[in-house]
Amino acid sequence: MNSNLFSRLIQQTPDPSRTAIETASGAQITYSDLIARSGQMANALVAQGVAPGDRVAVQIEKSVEAIILYLATVRAGAVFLPLNTGYTPAEIEYFLGDARPAVFVCDPARQASLEVAARASNAKILTLDADGQGSLMTAAEAAPEGFETVERAGADLAALLYTSGTTGRSKGAMLSHENLYSNAVALQDAWRYSASDVLIHALPIFHTHGLFVATNLTFLAGASMIFLPKFDADRILDVMPRATVLMGVPTFYVRLLESPRLDPQVTSHMRLFISGSAPLLAETHREWQARTGHAILERYGMTETNMSTSNPYEGERIAGTVGQPLPGVEVIVTDPETGAPLPDGEIGMIEVRGPNVFCGYWQMPEKTAAELRENGYFITGDLGMVDDKGYVHIVGRGKDLIISGGYNIYPKEVETEIDAITGVNESAVIGLPHSDFGEAVAAVVVPTGKVALTEADILAPLAERLARFKQPKRVIFVEELPRNTMGKVQKNLLRDQYGALFQ
Ligand code: ATP
Ligand code: MG
Repeated sequence: MNSNLFSRLIQQTPDPSRTAIETASGAQITYSDLIARSGQMANALVAQGVAPGDRVAVQIEKSVEAIILYLATVRAGAVFLPLNTGYTPAEIEYFLGDARPAVFVCDPARQASLEVAARASNAKILTLDADGQGSLMTAAEAAPEGFETVERAGADLAALLYTSGTTGRSKGAMLSHENLYSNAVALQDAWRYSASDVLIHALPIFHTHGLFVATNLTFLAGASMIFLPKFDADRILDVMPRATVLMGVPTFYVRLLESPRLDPQVTSHMRLFISGSAPLLAETHREWQARTGHAILERYGMTETNMSTSNPYEGERIAGTVGQPLPGVEVIVTDPETGAPLPDGEIGMIEVRGPNVFCGYWQMPEKTAAELRENGYFITGDLGMVDDKGYVHIVGRGKDLIISGGYNIYPKEVETEIDAITGVNESAVIGLPHSDFGEAVAAVVVPTGKVALTEADILAPLAERLARFKQPKRVIFVEELPRNTMGKVQKNLLRDQYGALFQ
């Protein structure tokens, strides 16, 4: 059997006449349309010289045609490589130089500024804009629909996805057809996904969450999605009465909670709200449940592993946890120094094994060897523990761990205490260089603005609740925390900005 992801997701769909995607302007794209149009696009790519195994890099706005390009690339046996639309030409030059794609597709408005980068990496440059127009589309429209999906083994690469670059330079994660397919199957089972589901898709599609979790699962189930160009609380609330599922980053939920329109009525047709990509505050979870009656289902994943754990569909969705391993996925917690497995309840390095785990970092054999163990476990870089119910708790990234005077401090523990103080909206706790302690704890706090807060208002309650070495030595008030497009707090920027605080 052909293990090409396209064959397994799209060509085996039970009813090709069903709608797969509905656009913001109301256009309906069926599964047969996806088959026909990806065939044209695949023919156009091959005519441009794309061969199986070649990378097709894209930096394009969200559109149905962008999804068709993803499907066409996979169908042609090539490797899809989406890039964040926020990347500058200099950043694109790095990615193209690293990945050496055969073709680079960009927005026509940016073509002039990206020519140099494309030429330097020997990639052919083509265009596709937010309305699905451009030189690639012109070529595709002239091409025939018939295309024989290229035979692929499960272990062949389907995508090269760069990590978000939260902790350093982005790394290219090599993902196989089987990695992506197996994860969609696991999620379909875990989240009870069916052909009658209608997903509200408001995420970007250059990232695991919006590209793989959302679309692969929808296609596998033969379901449909309402494709919105970006997050817009009102648009989401407009379509909610005829949708069943929302996938969001935590900021989606925080912003939706600010809308007076959010109530049990508008969410009554929905069966599932899913959150991931960054930690969901327990408070957001509670507020959402109080306002809508729905418990948000939080799950955990990363570029290198797709999804690894999820709170249960039936059963308790516990705020502040990311749930249990998905079917077929194993999660262990190990001693970060020795790698020895730790008992439940102890904090250590989260490691993941399963068919979801990637094939290694693109052209980084040493990093791959250091993080992907021979026994198949991937060292995630996230610290956490497994509780007595088997739920995984993430306490932060290994790189954010603070070591002060020889003691380990997990930022999340301190953040949770700070967030509970009246007048605090959210916080980020970081370690900054300190001559005596090596690192000292500093808290960056976002007040709600409703109460005037001083440093003492934060420190006094913490003195009763946290050991002295965990208490921040300084509190900095800011209006908002720096976040990337996926809603992840960029602690490295905070560390740079306040690096001299204790010097
Ligand atoms: P880089 O690896 O380049 O520093 P990144 O790790 O942010 O960037 P992604 O692969 O997009 O890149 O993000 C994966 C990370 O997101 C996880 O390792 C984890 O730290 C975080 N994450 C994802 N889901 C959750 C969640 N539900 N709760 C807490 N953290 C999460
Ligand atoms: Mg990472």
